[in-house]
Amino acid sequence: MRNRRCRLLCLLSIILYFVTLSAPVYAAAPGNGKPAGSAGPEETTTDLPSDANRLYHIPEDMIIYIPIRPLVEQLGGIIEWNSADSSILIISPDGRKISHVPETRVLYINGTQTDAALLSVLQNGVTYFPVPLINQLLGNNAEYDDAANTVTLSSPAPETDQTMLELKRSSELDFYLSENLFRYMDYLTLHPEYALSRAIAYVNAGVDQPFFSNLREIDDPESTLVLCNKHHILPTDYEPDDLTYLSGTAQRLRSEAAAAYEKMKKEAASEGYWFTVYSGYRSYSTQKRLYERYAAVDGADGADDYSARPGHSEHQAGLAIDISAGVREAELGHTETFRWLSENAYRFGFILRYPDGYSEITGYQYEPWHWRYVGIEAATIMHDEQIPTFEEFCGKYLIAR
Ligand SMILES: [Zn+2]
Repeated sequence: MRNRRCRLLCLLSIILYFVTLSAPVYAAAPGNGKPAGSAGPEETTTDLPSDANRLYHIPEDMIIYIPIRPLVEQLGGIIEWNSADSSILIISPDGRKISHVPETRVLYINGTQTDAALLSVLQNGVTYFPVPLINQLLGNNAEYDDAANTVTLSSPAPETDQTMLELKRSSELDFYLSENLFRYMDYLTLHPEYALSRAIAYVNAGVDQPFFSNLREIDDPESTLVLCNKHHILPTDYEPDDLTYLSGTAQRLRSEAAAAYEKMKKEAASEGYWFTVYSGYRSYSTQKRLYERYAAVDGADGADDYSARPGHSEHQAGLAIDISAGVREAELGHTETFRWLSENAYRFGFILRYPDGYSEITGYQYEPWHWRYVGIEAATIMHDEQIPTFEEFCGKYLIAR
C-alpha cells in the first residue's frame, strides 16, 4: 500500500496526454512546465498555464482532479466565470451549455438540473474537476494507466462550428460580458446574419429577450442617455422637472434638449430648411390614453408597432420629438428636410430613433418623424461609428462599462 501510495503521489509530476486520432496531444509537466514526451507528426504539445499547472488527487479514493479551464479550452469549448452567482459557465465542444457553482453538487446542462456525483474543488482561484465529472460533462473517456503513470483522455475532435468560432472571437471585444456567454451563444445561433459586435451589443442591451417579457424599471430616468423601450420602463410617476416650451409650439422638452432643438432649428432655417414639433413631452396618463385609443382600433399587437405602451415612451422622458415638415408623415422620409436632419442632427445631440429596417431591435416600425435627444457625445459616436440603433450604442457604451 505504501508503495502504491508513493506512486500515486508521483502523479503530481505525471504527464497528461489527450490522445485521439485527430485531436492534438496535450501535455503538461508540472515540475518544470516543459512539455514532456515526444509528439508524433500529427500531434502538438501545449503547456498548461502556470497557475493551473498542477494536478492533484486524493489518495484515499484515488480520484484525479484536473484544472478545468485549460482542459475545456484545449478541447475546443469555451469557459467563463459568472461573477453574478459565482458559477462557471461552460460551452462544451459539442455545444451544450453547462453551469456549475464550484464545490456544490448542482449542475445545469442546457438548463436542466442534474446532480454531480463528485464535488469540484476550488483552490487559489483555480477550479479542478474530478475525472468522473469531466467524463460526465465533456464526453471524454478518461483512463489512468498505473504502469505508465499517465492519464489518457480521449475526446471528440474539436468542433469547427461557426457560432463557436464567432463566440471565441467575441471575447476580445471590450464590451464582452462573460456572464452573458450562454445568451451570446443562443443569439448568434439564431442570428448568423448580424455582425459579431452588433449581436454582442444587442444581447448586452437585452434585445435577445422577447418584448415585454423581462421588464426592468429604469432607475435613472433623469439621464439624457436613458434607454426606454419594450424592455425598459419608466416609473409611472416620472415627470421631468425642467420641461421647457419650444418656441412657436405648445410642446415641451427637458431644458437641455429644448436648447439643443432651438439651435438645430435655427441652423436649419439659415440653410433654408423648415420643420416644427407637433409632439414633445407626453405624460404617462396622456400616453395611456393614446395607446388605449390605438389598441381599441388596431388591437394591442397592431398598436405596439407604432405606439408605446404607457411607461415605455421616450416622450415621457421629455427627450423625444415628433417632427413635421409640412408633408404627410409617410412622405417625410423623402424630403430634403429629412436629409438635412439625417446629416446634421447628431451635431446637436439628436438621433433618428426608429430607423428603417431595425424594427426587430427597436420594437417600432420606421418613424422618420421621431427624433431623440441623447446629447452630442453619444450622437456623434453613433454617427461616426455608423451605429444605427440606440440599443446597439447602449450595449457597446453604457451597459457593458
Ligand atoms: Zn414619437
